[in-house]
Order: sequence, then structure tokens, then C-alpha cells
Amino acid sequence: DLILRGEDVTKEYQTGTQTVRALKGIDFGIAPSDFVAIVGPSGSGKSTLLNLLGLLDVPTDGAVSLRGQDVSTFSDADRTRKRKRAIGFVFQSFYLIPTLTALENVEMPRMLDKTPVKTRERAKTLLRRVGLGDRLDHYPDELSGGQKQRVAIARSLINDPALLLADEPTGNLDRDTGDEILALFDELRAEEDVAIVTVTHDAYVAEEADRVVNLVDGVIEDAGETAADGGHGA
Ligand code: ADP
Ligand code: ADP
Repeated sequence: DLILRGEDVTKEYQTGTQTVRALKGIDFGIAPSDFVAIVGPSGSGKSTLLNLLGLLDVPTDGAVSLRGQDVSTFSDADRTRKRKRAIGFVFQSFYLIPTLTALENVEMPRMLDKTPVKTRERAKTLLRRVGLGDRLDHYPDELSGGQKQRVAIARSLINDPALLLADEPTGNLDRDTGDEILALFDELRAEEDVAIVTVTHDAYVAEEADRVVNLVDGVIEDAGETAADGGHGA
């Protein structure tokens, strides 16, 4: 029942005459409600892996599959469509639109939606879900860092994704606020079966993960349990 599987995934970049092998034949699997932390030094391939998991890019070699379908077989338009359906994104710097209220920010990914009333209800439900039922009409400026990240998380869930990719989600938050975001992640996993994959430099975040993928120079270092060993779903 894997949402995403990677088999012998290699990613190379060409810059002029140089080839950089950013990922060197790694395996991974993401199951519903997994919580996986990707850690590793700068340049080890974390962003590259996150881009592949987010269907923003395809591997040079090996295969990434979304629910059993090899993403390399999708057209670009198809890949974009499937990404929007299956995957939500959260970032260190929130990326909220300052001129929109919390509610409007959450609705944003569905701006061209044909059922705006349903979207509005869903957005309100999500903001209540993340503890911001009393902040619907507040602008990002009027919210704390933790509240902004909650809005961003609510926005990432508007299309009911199976997977949430969080790039340094606690990077701009103090420890207590970061712990609140982690608690929210736990609720989302338990109650909505959302799988969460995070790139993090915060040790306390990695400690909460079911599995830690430790990337070193494009390979996964064995740290006991890894994303490749089938320990998902536990
Ligand atoms: P991290 O996120 O761990 O810092 P990255 O995935 O960004 O690592 O980078 C892994 C390696 O791939 C690095 O050597 C980086 O310079 C290289 N790289 C990443 N993206 C590109 C790109 N678009 N073009 C060329 N090289 C890249
Ligand atoms: P982070 O601190 O989040 O790991 P990086 O600087 O590693 O940020 O990468 C941010 C983005 O920049 C990556 O997604 C990658 O596509 C791009 N990038 C990283 N290294 C290079 C590079 N050497 N050349 C071109 N693009 C790169």
C-alpha cells in the first residue's frame, strides 16, 4: 500500500560538461501515516530527494512510483495534476500571501474551483482542525510564526493529500512552537492517515520521526532502520 516507492533511484545534474550525481541508487518507501525525517549535511541530496518525492522532478535512473505507477511514464501535465491531488507542501518560510486572510490563503490552491462554497467550508474545517477557528479573517501579519505555519499546513491539506512534504517546517520557530507543530503532525497522521516526510536540521524533530533517512553524499547511510527496509506502517 505504498504511496511512493523509490527503487535504485539515481539523480544526476548536468552543468556544462560536468555531471553531478546527487543521488546514487537509493531505495525508499512511504506508507500511509508514516513520519520520515530526511537529514544530512549540505549538498548530500536532501532537496533533490524532496523534489523527487514531490513529483517536481523525475530520476535519471531507477524508478519512483506513485501508488504503483512509474512517474517517468506520466506526461508533465499528468505529473502536475497527480502532484496537486496527492501531495501537500509546507516550507520553512510559510509562503503565505500577505494580502489574503488566513481563510483565503487556505482556499488559494483551489481558486479556480467550480465549487467555491464547498472549498470555503473545507478551508474553515481545516483551520479549525489546526486550532485556528478563531483566526479565519486574520492576515498573516496578525499571526505568530506558529500560527502562520498552521495556516500553511491547513493550505497544504486542502486537496486531501496522502503525503505532506515539509521542508524545514520548524526552521523559523522556537522549540515550544516547533513541538506544537509536531503534535499537529501526529494528529494529522492518526486522524487523516497523512504521511509526512520532512527535511530537518532540528534534532528534536528527527527524534520524533518513525524513520530517519540519513543522506551522505547521495546515499542513505545505515542508521539501523531506514526508509528502504520495509519498516513502514508500524
Ligand atoms: P541538499 O539539499 O542536501 O543541500 P541538494 O539536493 O540541493 O542537497 O544537492 C545535492 C548535490 O546536487 C549538490 O552537489 C548540489 O550542488 C547538486 N545540485 C542540486 N541541484 C542542482 C541543479 N539544479 N543543478 C546542478 N547541480 C545541482
Ligand atoms: P537547502 O538548504 O534547502 O538544502 P539547497 O541550496 O541545497 O537548499 O537547494 C535549494 C535548491 O537549489 C534545490 O532544490 C536545487 O534544485 C537548487 N540547487 C542546489 N544546488 C544547486 C546547484 N549547484 N546548481 C543549481 N541549482 C542548485
